[in-house]
Amino acid sequence: MPAKQVLIVEDERPIREMIAFGLRRAGFEVREAEDCRSARLQLADRRPDVLLVDWMLPDMSGLELTRALKRDRDTRELPIILLTARAEESDRVAGLEGGADDYITKPFSPRELVARINAVLRRVSGGDGEERVEFDGLVLDRASHRVTVGDRTVPLGPTEYRMLEFFMTHPERVYSREQLLDRIWGGSVYIEERTIDVHIRRLRKALEAFGYDRFIQTVRGAGYRFSARTG
Ligand code: CA
Repeated sequence: MPAKQVLIVEDERPIREMIAFGLRRAGFEVREAEDCRSARLQLADRRPDVLLVDWMLPDMSGLELTRALKRDRDTRELPIILLTARAEESDRVAGLEGGADDYITKPFSPRELVARINAVLRRVSGGDGEERVEFDGLVLDRASHRVTVGDRTVPLGPTEYRMLEFFMTHPERVYSREQLLDRIWGGSVYIEERTIDVHIRRLRKALEAFGYDRFIQTVRGAGYRFSARTG
């Protein structure tokens, strides 16, 4: 398998080089950009497997770059991890809601970064080795299409299963009803957006008996989010 390629967008050279060093040692192919403009040029040239974007950049913020790339059809699927020195909850939420696939707060160890990158890569490939997805004791087994908590099976219909699978493999991000329709049912099917609410209700009800209904969070005016964090 060819080495996975990471593009680091960070203006502070010592930090960028330190990250690059750690990632190369972990077997990644690394490219570097010192600002958003250079990042976009490099993206047009060759698509990396993951983008690491620092929040504070000279020409535009990492969050703005993330938003722009996630709005663009060509780069929408590109996994983005935001690097941030800001630890405040509101910034993390802004980062994830801006479309970042994950965020990591400085300072971080190379090992932690590698673990996060691998997790994001597994999530997007949706395959190899990722047969089992687990969240806080809630286990989804993709081979058997079963969801379990300990030795008990969570009874789910096929649509609720698909919905939960989508949520568990795309946690911490808010999806609108339209996006959920698109991602879970596929864009070609005509289904009313209200249908989503029905399935959400059923999914919550099934999870309620196990205490996991709180993971399916309603974000007022925006949609739904799957999160093991509270609030
Ligand atoms: Ca910076």
